[in-house]
Amino acid sequence: MTQDDSPLIGSKLRLIMELRRLGISDQRVLGAIERVPRELFVPPTFVDQAYENVALPIGHGQTVSQPLIVALMTEALELSDRHKAFEIGTGSGYQTAILAKLCRRVFSIERHRALLREAEKRFAELRLHNITLRFGDGTKGWPEQAPFERIIVTAAAPELPTILADSLAEGGVLVAPVGEDRRDQQLLRIRREAEGFKTEELGPVRFVPLVAGLPRDGNAGTG
Ligand code: SAH
Repeated sequence: MTQDDSPLIGSKLRLIMELRRLGISDQRVLGAIERVPRELFVPPTFVDQAYENVALPIGHGQTVSQPLIVALMTEALELSDRHKAFEIGTGSGYQTAILAKLCRRVFSIERHRALLREAEKRFAELRLHNITLRFGDGTKGWPEQAPFERIIVTAAAPELPTILADSLAEGGVLVAPVGEDRRDQQLLRIRREAEGFKTEELGPVRFVPLVAGLPRDGNAGTG
């Protein structure tokens, strides 16, 4: 720890206390948030806000989710170190890194190549070796790797693509924001049981849209 880090350490501890106060009680989730340096996942100009409970821009019109939402979604997934997880929307890679601390393997897909490359560098720097990334359209799933015990979608669709629920293993859990309108999204938790799917509403959320297909220029390097 250098003197320059200490304001961030203080703000990180304040964030953890705030998350507890807001109802996050899973120690493993709070521990992962404490161990993953969010300042590495935000643009340099936002580093001083890295531990504020807010979403921050990461370029290409996308955002790294608010810490409370990352914590709620991670808690709702009920992860264990035996699980193989699938994330749609790598973005900055922050949520991916949290998952990587709590499960066996994470497969994450992103449709902006430039974001994926930056996330890849961060995982190398943090020595997170249980993450496999793919450039592509997550609405098509990842059939070669399915089924997954856990699936998390970090962008909202009017309806959940059926291939995603179909990619769940029996006993598996999927967490995703769903809604027609940006101001009217619900966080859903779907469990695949022997008799079928069971859906719960976890509360209102606000996410960037899940967009089918790839950006028009093919690499989206400039946004
Ligand atoms: N989990 C991310 C959140 C990023 S915002 C983080 O912690 O930073 C949602 C991300 O989903 C964006 O990066 C967006 O480009 C991506 N996305 C949207 N539609 C997608 C699709 N069909 N396939 C893959 N990624 C998609």
